[in-house]
Amino acid sequence: MNTQQCFSCGAREGMRHFEGRSETMSVNGMQRRVDDLSGWECQMCGEVELDDCCSDRHSQAGDELVMAARRMIGEEMKRIRRKLHLTQKETVQLLSGGGHNAFSRYERGEVLPPKTLVLLMRLLDRYPYLLAEAKSLGEGADLRGFTHTVHKEHETVTNM
Ligand SMILES: [Zn+2]
Repeated sequence: MNTQQCFSCGAREGMRHFEGRSETMSVNGMQRRVDDLSGWECQMCGEVELDDCCSDRHSQAGDELVMAARRMIGEEMKRIRRKLHLTQKETVQLLSGGGHNAFSRYERGEVLPPKTLVLLMRLLDRYPYLLAEAKSLGEGADLRGFTHTVHKEHETVTNM
């Protein structure tokens, strides 16, 4: 019999072996189909464990899909930034904050930008005239003007 006890819910003979299954993964409208999967599925709790032969292939397809989606968002960020005539550095200072490399990492698809930043960029893509508003509203929003001054007038030197 192609059944075994479920390692998740413990149902005896809960897991049945399957093969020839296909799965379509999707993220942000991108899709990837993986065929010829085999493994065990619990009839009680739905737990699935793919066989060794295809679990790597399955997780690799998922990783590739996520990377492709990240690159797609990265290219979108780059297109909008150029349309707004901003450098990466200006974009960081104006919109995203963080290190000066932050935006180039977003554009290269190495890091997924925060949702708020993607939303802001898309708003500016649709309404580019809001860039001037963003510049004036952003003044002082990040305490970049913070300074401190030392007053030494009343200080005395102590000999230790
Ligand atoms: Zn189960």
